[in-house]
Amino acid sequence: NVFATQSIPTPTTPYVMKTAQLPDSKRMKIMVTGGAGFVGSHLVDKLMQEGHEVVVIDNFFTGQKKNIEHWLRHPHFSLRVHDVTEPIMLEVDQIYHLACPASPPHYQYNPVKTIKTSTMGTINVLGLAKRVKARMLLSSTSEIYGDPKEHPQKESYWGNVNTIGPRACYDEGKRVAETMMYSYKNQNEVDVRVARIFNTFGPRMHPNDGRVVSNFIIQALQNKPMTIYGDGSQTRSFQYVSDLVDGLHALMNGDYNMPVNLGNPEEYSVKHFAETIKEITKSDSEIMYLEKTQDDPTQRKPAIDVAKQEINWEPKVHVTDGLSKAIDYFQKVIDADGEIVIT
Ligand code: NAD
Ligand code: UDP
Repeated sequence: NVFATQSIPTPTTPYVMKTAQLPDSKRMKIMVTGGAGFVGSHLVDKLMQEGHEVVVIDNFFTGQKKNIEHWLRHPHFSLRVHDVTEPIMLEVDQIYHLACPASPPHYQYNPVKTIKTSTMGTINVLGLAKRVKARMLLSSTSEIYGDPKEHPQKESYWGNVNTIGPRACYDEGKRVAETMMYSYKNQNEVDVRVARIFNTFGPRMHPNDGRVVSNFIIQALQNKPMTIYGDGSQTRSFQYVSDLVDGLHALMNGDYNMPVNLGNPEEYSVKHFAETIKEITKSDSEIMYLEKTQDDPTQRKPAIDVAKQEINWEPKVHVTDGLSKAIDYFQKVIDADGEIVIT
């Protein structure tokens, strides 16, 4: 029941993806805001391969056309260059609302815009979901727990966020976006899903993204100093992008409608993470300690019992296996002299 479809292989997408043929009664029209970004484009691949019709809404602030270009001529795919802070008129069955810069340098570049994206953007998408009675999933974040006093973080934890710090535009934006989701659910019966996503990595991360995985891998491949902010004792738990996409899909298509953590509980100190990447890449990089960034959470690790019980999901890819795949990708992004050649 599977047939090959059009796709445009390019140096950055050297593969042909296949889509399943669904009967009209089973094929949904699915909107993915932020679908040209890192996570969104992998999700789009899964939904297209399942045989659904996919509409990507993206303003290309941090997304890239090359992430989705292999679908551009497919009859089930469409792209609207659109900012979610402006109203959207469409008819769809499901909505994955991912539009929002995710890397700290990106979301702090224009904090007011980040707040508008999470507030006005989420209101607009909720308004659409309400009008067309579409189920809507919000990509929330572990950042809503702030610098957590509870470890690991359960969904029941309310968080510890500085409302006026440099991360607040993102953290508080996502917190109010969650509030809006449940206000629309309770007041207008919108069918909502909320994923609290923990640090995710994989191919298609932008090389200048500024997040720790891309920074460390590129620095290691270039044999340049690996920059640790602070003493490196802060922890993060990293999941590979295919696990996240499976989790988003399971959450969207299950019955559970309260927030769910999606992350890999394998926890690393940033220092150990740098050493691990240095070892896998066989790099000669030195470790360089820079000033700690303000309000940087000291620890982060998801409790995933809810995901296991309610949506039958847990991550499958070990961090080191995922890192090897990400390193292969970043190796293609830089040339033999270590210069970034594909952005
Ligand atoms: P990304 O920056 O690669 O993708 C975000 C996408 O949203 C980009 O394509 C960007 O152009 C688009 N976008 C931004 N503002 C927009 C606007 N106003 N209108 C339309 N499009 C807009 O980031 P990502 O890592 O793919 O993250 C996707 C989602 O997942 C985000 O909502 C983010 O908050 C959430 N998330 C990601 C992580 C992670 O580790 N990757 C962790 C927690 C939460
Ligand atoms: N970090 C670092 N060096 C870098 C980039 C990030 O030490 O070059 C640290 C950062 O201070 C944080 C952790 O790595 O403690 C994860 O940062 P990232 O920006 O990836 O995401 P965050 O989890 O902070 O949103």
